[in-house]
Formats: sequence, C-alpha cells, structure tokens
Amino acid sequence: MEYRAFIRSPRKQRNSGFGPIVVVTRHTTHVEEKARRLPVIDSADIVVLGGGSAGLSAAVSAARLGADVLLIERYGFLGGVATAAMVTSFCGLYLDRNYDACRIVRGFADDLLSLIDAQGGLAPPRRVKPGAVSQAFDATAYKFAADDLVDDAGVRLRLHSFGVAALPDPDEGSRIGHIVVESKSGRGAIAGKVFIDASGDGDLASVSGCAFEIGDEHGFMQYPTTMFRMRNVEDALTAGIRKTIGSKVADAIDSGEYDLPRKYVSVSPQPFSTEWRANATQVRGESDEAIDGTDVLQLSRAETEGRRQVREFHRFLKDRMDGFANSSILDTAPQIGIRETRRILGQRELDAEHVAEGKTSHDAIGLGCWPFETHRNGTVDWRAVGGRGYYDIPLGMMVPAKGPRNLLVAGRCASASPEALASVRVMGSCMVMGQAAGTLAALAVEESSTFIEVELSKLRKALESNGVCFSPDDLSVAPTQN
Ligand SMILES: Cc1cc2nc3c(=O)[nH]c(=O)nc-3n(C[C@H](O)[C@H](O)[C@H](O)COP(=O)(O)OP(=O)(O)OC[C@H]3O[C@@H](n4cnc5c(N)ncnc54)[C@H](O)[C@@H]3O)c2cc1C
Repeated sequence: MEYRAFIRSPRKQRNSGFGPIVVVTRHTTHVEEKARRLPVIDSADIVVLGGGSAGLSAAVSAARLGADVLLIERYGFLGGVATAAMVTSFCGLYLDRNYDACRIVRGFADDLLSLIDAQGGLAPPRRVKPGAVSQAFDATAYKFAADDLVDDAGVRLRLHSFGVAALPDPDEGSRIGHIVVESKSGRGAIAGKVFIDASGDGDLASVSGCAFEIGDEHGFMQYPTTMFRMRNVEDALTAGIRKTIGSKVADAIDSGEYDLPRKYVSVSPQPFSTEWRANATQVRGESDEAIDGTDVLQLSRAETEGRRQVREFHRFLKDRMDGFANSSILDTAPQIGIRETRRILGQRELDAEHVAEGKTSHDAIGLGCWPFETHRNGTVDWRAVGGRGYYDIPLGMMVPAKGPRNLLVAGRCASASPEALASVRVMGSCMVMGQAAGTLAALAVEESSTFIEVELSKLRKALESNGVCFSPDDLSVAPTQN
C-alpha cells in the first residue's frame, strides 16, 4: 500500500485547490491483524445504516408499521447532510406552479416539516428560480424533530457507531447476516433480517459485494461545499440580494482582491431573523477535479480548505454586500457537504431522459421535481425537469442489481446516472426513497418474503395510506416568497 501526503504549494494558495500529491512509500506496506471473535451486540428485524433524510424516513416508516428497527448513525445526532453539513433548505418538495408552491412530497415529510414548524424553525417556501422552490429550516429544530420522530415510532438508536463491514448470513450466503460497527465501546456485530444502506456513500453496499460507480465516464463528480451561517445580518438592507450578488461576486473575482472559488453562489435568510446561510465555497483537487468524499486524506484537507474559503467569502460579503457589514460567522458545518460519491448499480438506473421528460414508471414510489443542479468547476449548471414538470421515482433504483438479496439502498447512493443524480439527490427525493425502502422492508419482514415477492400493488397501497403523493392534481397550493 502507498501512503499519500498533501503538501501546500504557492499554486494552491492562488487557485483554492490542493497542492501536488507526494507519494511516500514506507518500508512496511502491510501489517497482519489477528482474526478475532466478535460479540453480537444487537439484532433487529430491520437495520438502517445512516440517519440522514433517507435513513430517518426509512427507519420511522418501517417502525410505524410494527417492525423492530435499529438505526445506526456515526454522529451524535440525526439529519445527515441537513444537520451535519448544515444544508438548511429542503429542495424537491414543491412544484412551482406559476409562483405558487404545490407540495408533492408528503407522508413522512409532512410529520418532519410540522415538527420543525412547531418550533418556529421553518420558513415559507421560496422560488429560487423557475421550476425550483426551496424551503429554509433551522438545523437545530431539525435535530429535535428527528429525535421526537424516532422516539415516537419506537426506533432504537445506536449513535456514535460507524458501520465498517458486512458478514454474509452463514446459512444463506446471498444475504447479509450481520453488519459490523465500530464505536467507543469497540467492535461488534449486529444481526438483521433486512438491511437498508442510507449512508449517502453506499458504505454498506460497497462492503457487501454490490456493484457501484463513482463519477461519470471522465471521473467527473459534483464539487463539494463547506456551508456556513452568519448572525447579525441587517435583513432590511438585503432586499434584491439574489439579483445583485452574482455580478458582485464576478466583480470581486475580476478585481483580484478576493480569492473566490465559484461564480454562482446562494446566500439566503434562515427562519430566525438576522441569521443567513451561505452556499458559496467549492473545494477542488490538484487538477481542479472534485475531491473524493470516500478518500479520508482528501476529506481532511478539504475541511481546512473549505473553512479557509468560508472566511474569504465572508470578508467579501462584509466589504461589498449591503446588510453584512456588521455580521459575523455564527458557525461552519461540522463537515464539508459531499454531493456525490458511490452510486450503486440497481435493477433500474434512473437516467437523464426520465428526469428531463418527466416520465412515469410502473414501479413508482413517489415523485421528484427538482431541476438538474450540477456543481461544475467554478459554477453551477441548471436545467429544468421537462414534460409534466415532475417524474416518478422508481423502486428499482433502490434494489441492487448484484449483491445481497436482503439489502435496499436509499438516498443519494441509489442507482442513478450522474446526470439524473443532479436532480434526485435532494432531500425531498431522498425522503421519498426512504419511506418506500422502510415500507417495503417492513412488508417483506412481515411476510417473511424477499423484496421481489412483495406485490407492488401492496407496497403502493401502504405508501398511499401513509400519505405518499403519486399525483399532484388534487393538492392545494400556497404562494411562494420570491
Ligand atoms: C453542499 C450541499 C448543498 C446541498 N443543498 C441542498 C439543498 O439546499 N436542498 C436539498 O434538498 N438538498 C441539497 N443537497 C443534497 C442533499 O442534501 C443530499 O443529497 C441528501 O441530503 C442526501 O441524503 P441521504 O440521506 O442520502 O444522505 P445523508 O444526508 O448524507 O445521510 C447519510 C447519513 O449516514 C451517516 N453515515 C454515513 N456513513 C456511515 C457509516 N459508515 N456508519 C454510520 N453512519 C454513516 C452520515 O453521518 C449521515 O447521517 C445539498 C448537498 C450538499 C452536499
């Protein structure tokens, strides 16, 4: 094995990327670890790895149907990217109907939103651009809401636990028998009948033999961003900021006075007054490629580089944008926000045509509507969903084409082409996938059957009776803020 080390170079300071990679070869390349017996520390009908939008939705939905559910999460709180990367706005929940917002992601999302709203932590829906309506929320309110949801549903939680390996079922090698977790308590195995990988990175799928891809045919992945919040922004002075900030960023870059990594930025108010959030950084590798969120050395450097960019962007805001002169940085996200890593190869791959033409699918589990939002080098490309303006999310994208028979993969690591992922990766769609995965898992456990044996009509009926929307025609609309 080769060890890699990053060093800083003058070039790095200019282009916001990493310095050259130095390959350091050490004399000892491998060490042997003695085989050891692992304690079986827990068991459940359904084991969910990852408590983000998809995993939280899956765990709560399955437990509400009576299954014994264990949710494993590496952090001490739930929410995934929503809380750990401070991505504090829901996308993909609303259709834009001529400046009215029509919410097409229902079911589990209804409960999450109403619990956040009850704490004053939910802003009204906002039209970001034609076809794109988002809704800001407070990250702490999300954490509290998630705690209440798992508690009320009877989900058992194992926080501060990192899923690291999968062991095949000793009686049936085509199934996962145990997931291995590491924590402060040591290493242990957890038995399950059904497993749901909602880790965002497909960690469980990748260690249990599922085929997956990273990046497109050129290795391109979407670029990551370190998010941050500010306090003491003078709201009254910020009118029209969305129209002016693009040209001000471009001027700042041209002036050479600021080292800003991208032209398209999003700076938006949070539910509580004087608090704002910025989505404005972009961390690149040595050759200007996106850093790989499954490489710990790249991640380590990306964290410090992301925070350096935060300070630089805030300097620009204070100097050049009305309302920010007296602001200060409230917090940076606990971790850099990773938009793309592994995508499993599923029985069905969601492709760009399906999204672009707003297609239907025989195995629909809910609806997606967010435009293609692709974070490229230095900018962001947008392309609307065509046809009906929304598309069916198919069940097949959560079922691995190759791999264990008792594993579903929900959320951003489900099966989608890189282009389609640019739409379906948002939180609204991840909640749809999570609710369907949890529901299917609970039905399979109840019937002692495989996923394929559960009738699609039965799954759909269960989803509909728990509020999932399959057609927006009967839904009411609410005006958006612009
Ligand atoms: C910078 C950025 C901005 C974005 N902006 C928006 C936006 O404004 N609105 C929007 O809707 N979407 C946005 N997205 C996309 C969206 O937030 C994510 O794609 C989506 O939240 C992914 O949900 P998920 O449940 O699949 O994964 P995640 O939210 O990543 O959840 C995965 C969970 O699994 C845990 N985990 C991972 N590996 C392990 C392991 N091995 N063991 C134990 N636990 C593990 C993680 O800690 C995490 O809690 C953005 C993404 C980024 C990165």
